[in-house]
Amino acid sequence: QFGSLAQQAPDSLLGLIRLFQEDQRPHKIDLGVGIFRDDQGLTPVLGAIKAAERILVEQQESKSYLGPVGDSGFVDLTARLALGDDLATSPSLVGLQTPGGNGALRLAFELLAEASKDSAVWVGSPTWMNHFPLIASTGLESRHHRFYDPATLRIDFDGMMSDLASAKPGDVLLLHGCCHNPTGATFSSAEWAEIIALCERQGLLPLIDFAYHGLGDGLEADAAPVRMFVENLPEAIVAYSCDKNFGMYRDRVGSLFVKAATLAQADAVRSQLFGTARAMWSMPPDHGAAACRIILSSPELRSVWQEELDTMRERINGLRQAVANSLPRLSAVANQRGLFSLLPISTDAVRLLREESAIYMAPDGRINIAGLSEANLAHFVEATSRFLEN
Ligand code: PMP
Repeated sequence: QFGSLAQQAPDSLLGLIRLFQEDQRPHKIDLGVGIFRDDQGLTPVLGAIKAAERILVEQQESKSYLGPVGDSGFVDLTARLALGDDLATSPSLVGLQTPGGNGALRLAFELLAEASKDSAVWVGSPTWMNHFPLIASTGLESRHHRFYDPATLRIDFDGMMSDLASAKPGDVLLLHGCCHNPTGATFSSAEWAEIIALCERQGLLPLIDFAYHGLGDGLEADAAPVRMFVENLPEAIVAYSCDKNFGMYRDRVGSLFVKAATLAQADAVRSQLFGTARAMWSMPPDHGAAACRIILSSPELRSVWQEELDTMRERINGLRQAVANSLPRLSAVANQRGLFSLLPISTDAVRLLREESAIYMAPDGRINIAGLSEANLAHFVEATSRFLEN
């Protein structure tokens, strides 16, 4: 039966993790996998999560099934966190818990494919690599628009708008809510407003991948553009993840929100989402979402969490500034946001940095800024500067 199966190409980041572990050089730096790290290079469980998990262990009385929505308290609280109270409680908004942002995206693409097989999904180049298999697995076609200019390390906004002029009504525009992966490049408020106007003018449906809420400029600032889409357009989709901002990675915590044009359509969307989720994972895993719900519903734990989130964000943005100060070619990195930036270097340079300087990053030059630290920054700056012309 399996004789017909071809070997798939191995995931380049997973291979990198193994190489890094085997590397004995004491000055090695891991800028590969996309997780937050503290100044010691660790990714500890947040204090707020530890406290919430203790409460959960003590108070949870049953592990019986929850309904298809998952933890409805969690869904309501993440809707409010992402969209604000008014939009979160609108009757035309449908929400449900998903296994991480990945699960939310997959479910969203399944819904879109069911609604309209001929819609194309427009994605900026480059984007998070997993967007492509997520889209392709539902049979939808993806189309590229210009997004990032490696010469300036900034967004090619004119190129993007001109490419999107050929999008058809009903096409989907996939956007990163904040903290773009892999470039870190961010739209200005004026650019966000232009994108919303474009969606309105051309009848495009925005799907916002919101996986790093709070890690860019803070919870309110990061949510502002996302809310503008949901508020101003008749239909919008938000795929939300708590895996980064609550440090829950392996616990797979996320939710999906769909704003429908009418109440009847919202009902149909809900039933489709439940049916599709049932065929994929039946119900989402409970533990992480329950812990996040406990935090979001307790004023004390919520403020502990927000402080921890502030600390993560300030560390990332501090490192961005330090990189920009030390490497003039990377001055734009200071204005980028989130874990990632894309170094303007060749795959050969990436290999040489690994072999000669023990610095590990994705083959496209994507670095996890949080992998830098006070202790390793000088080594990073010295090693990379020879590949970066000013
Ligand atoms: N979207 C983007 C842009 C991401 O970088 C990630 C995680 N790498 C996800 C979605 C998925 O997040 P999760 O771990 O919650 O599935």
